[in-house]
Amino acid sequence: MKNFRNTPPPSFAPKRRRPHIDFEQPLTVGDKLTILLVILSISSVLFVSLYFILHFFTPQQKDSLAVTEVSQSADPPVPTELNKPESTDDHLAQLVSESSEESSKESSDEISDESSKESSDEISEESSKESSDESSEESSKESSDEISDESSKENPDESSDESSKENPDESSDESSDENSDESSDENSKENSDEISDENSKENSDESSEKESTLPYFLQENTTQETDTYALHYGELILVNKQHSCVYDGIRLAALIDNADRHYALTDSSVTLHQNVIPSFDRMMDDFYDTCGRTDIMVACGFRSINTQRLLYDNEIKDIGKKEAAMWVAPPHYSEHQTGYAFDLNLNRPGSGSISYENTEPYSWINQNCYIYGFIERYPEGQEAVTGFHAESWHFRYVGIPSAYYMHQNGLTLEEYIDVLHAHTVQDPLIIYTETSAYALYYVPADDHSTTNILLPANYSYLISGDNDSGFIVTVSLTE
Ligand SMILES: [Zn+2]
Repeated sequence: MKNFRNTPPPSFAPKRRRPHIDFEQPLTVGDKLTILLVILSISSVLFVSLYFILHFFTPQQKDSLAVTEVSQSADPPVPTELNKPESTDDHLAQLVSESSEESSKESSDEISDESSKESSDEISEESSKESSDESSEESSKESSDEISDESSKENPDESSDESSKENPDESSDESSDENSDESSDENSKENSDEISDENSKENSDESSEKESTLPYFLQENTTQETDTYALHYGELILVNKQHSCVYDGIRLAALIDNADRHYALTDSSVTLHQNVIPSFDRMMDDFYDTCGRTDIMVACGFRSINTQRLLYDNEIKDIGKKEAAMWVAPPHYSEHQTGYAFDLNLNRPGSGSISYENTEPYSWINQNCYIYGFIERYPEGQEAVTGFHAESWHFRYVGIPSAYYMHQNGLTLEEYIDVLHAHTVQDPLIIYTETSAYALYYVPADDHSTTNILLPANYSYLISGDNDSGFIVTVSLTE
């Protein structure tokens, strides 16, 4: 057993031996066939490996690249991307940047920014058609039914034509050749929806500036460049605990100058904004004609910051800060600082004055003041909105149409300003009095030092800031 491995049985040796070629001996036919088979098998393995490398590995790289391009192009265009082009589209991005600069000079900034990023002709054509259609529909819906039927029929066509002409053609001509066919085909389908959505919004914005959806009274218009700071001035400025007053005594006039007045004054120094006094005098005249009373006393009109501070501090000493805040505004936050507000008392010769109450016959003033452009500023039950207890003696001038609307709808000034903010130039608020009609619209203040306000060329109007975010234009439609 010990020597068994060294001396295997002869009959086993040839069968267990691995194929071996002895090159010193002439090759037999079997050896040649064996070599040929080995070479063929090695070649076939190499061939198959090469095939996989060529036909699977390389195309996968291309596909992933194509996906990257599509996903980049399908992203919503963001202006900052123009400045930071992605690596796969450096050249395209550069072209787009150049074309956007060119087109932005010729068309509006917003539209050119968006459109110049889209590079294929197909995208341009689709988006310009779709967006113009949508903007036409939207704009015709948005325009006021009451007063802009004519404009909604006539003007959307103009806006469509203009937007389709001005949209991406210029930018796309240059860059379309550079774009790959694959990505442009796919992008044109995927991006057209997004583009049309964005363009439709922006085109409608632009069309507002292009007289396409404007109400009839603005078909002939002019633009006034207004100091944005002026939003703190005017008869519709909102002054409350959240909105301070920057107005301080400009254009005041003394009530004592009216020699024919049917009311008393606490002293000769009572002043109001000069635009308010004619309306106040007319109201007091009518009150006198109706009730025959002359004991209305104007206790306070304009109040300076220092006077307001003194009043506020004294009120805190008397009733504590929390309760004082419900009766007296802190300095800089009082309506009296505007010159548009006043308090009434009742004059009692020999005993000074007593408080004004909303009782007969004086309640005539509370019930009819809107006819003259005044509102009872702090109504009963609105403390949560106005921040003050009801004050039946405190009136505020806001102009006739606004006073009518607030009276008709039971709104505080805070609520009314909110209503106005929803009525832009395309959708003005129409207000009717017994004899007149007015259109009011809100123009948001620009971030820059000036704001361009669109105004009617053939109708009288008044501009007021809202002391919050923009301007209110009041147009008289009854000439
Ligand atoms: Zn007051």
